[in-house]
Amino acid sequence: KDGKGGSNQWCFFNEDMTQAARERIALESRLRNAVAQGHLQLFYQPQIDIATGGLIGCEALVRWFDPVDGMISPARFIPVAESTGLIGPLGEWVLGEACRQAQAWSSQGLPDISIAVNLSLHQFLLTDIVGCTRQALARSGLPAGRLELEITESALAARPDEALTVLRGLKDLGLRLAIDDFGTGYSSLAHLKRFPIDLLKIDQSFIRDIPQSADDMAISHAVIAMGKSMGMEVLAEGVETAAQLEFLRQHGCHFYQGYFCSRPLPVGEFTVLLEGEAQRRRQESLNSLGLG
Ligand code: C2E
Ligand code: MG
Ligand code: MG
Ligand code: MG
Repeated sequence: KDGKGGSNQWCFFNEDMTQAARERIALESRLRNAVAQGHLQLFYQPQIDIATGGLIGCEALVRWFDPVDGMISPARFIPVAESTGLIGPLGEWVLGEACRQAQAWSSQGLPDISIAVNLSLHQFLLTDIVGCTRQALARSGLPAGRLELEITESALAARPDEALTVLRGLKDLGLRLAIDDFGTGYSSLAHLKRFPIDLLKIDQSFIRDIPQSADDMAISHAVIAMGKSMGMEVLAEGVETAAQLEFLRQHGCHFYQGYFCSRPLPVGEFTVLLEGEAQRRRQESLNSLGLG
């Protein structure tokens, strides 16, 4: 070779790729084991009705506890699962476990809350998501109306016609559909109105700088108004302060999630929260009878 910069650059780039590919393959095989050996867990983040303060549901968020590396974030391993096809078995496990747990709380006499499960792009478009969901509902006995599936705008925008067919198949099961991270993808409003969506989840990036950012307040206000006028419910993600919650209350946002109420919790801690909610509901009904 002539030793030009170009060829050096090629070698460097190539080596870099090999390194990235090696890491990816290592992560893939460890993730495959983790799914098989039960190293995945679901955490649950409460969803709160802003008008009443009541706990109405939760979002299931997957966690990977590696015996050596400790917790590995879903932001790191979901993309690997997506690109290797592992999202199939992983997503199936998440759906089955979420439905089973929600129904288990009910059979322990705890409130019948809803449970939200995230679907990623490939899981939504390339796996038999309708069949898999039907099976998770049937096996757990969870009423379909208490399951909510979250899809991002990019999954809908990528192939809108196919997406619509899948969404209709899911809606026919009787569950609820939510758009996650709303406002961050390219969703055409023309598509949005054709999709059978029950809930818009305002992305946390629009909530974070409320009340300092006039732009973010205008965007959040507009999304709440638009969602409501299209007959959808609206949930704000990433609520961390009382001022943010107050803004959302004033603008009629239905629900919120965020550290202001709680981080995502392991099952035992979430169960304690649900026991508190059961107690709150008992007290409320006593009060309404004038017996409190
Ligand atoms: P997401 O569905 O938008 O979930 C919300 C993320 O925001 C969660 O991160 C949650 O822990 C975090 N969060 C909640 N409240 C607050 C807050 O007040 N402040 C801040 N700064 N963050 C908050 P997490 O659990 O790390 O999940 C990241 C993403 O990974 C999720 O975003 C979702 O897209 C994906 N994901 C998680 N679990 C699953 C799963 O079971 N299947 C699939 N396909 N994707 C999942
Ligand atoms: Mg989500
Ligand atoms: Mg989100
Ligand atoms: Mg997100």
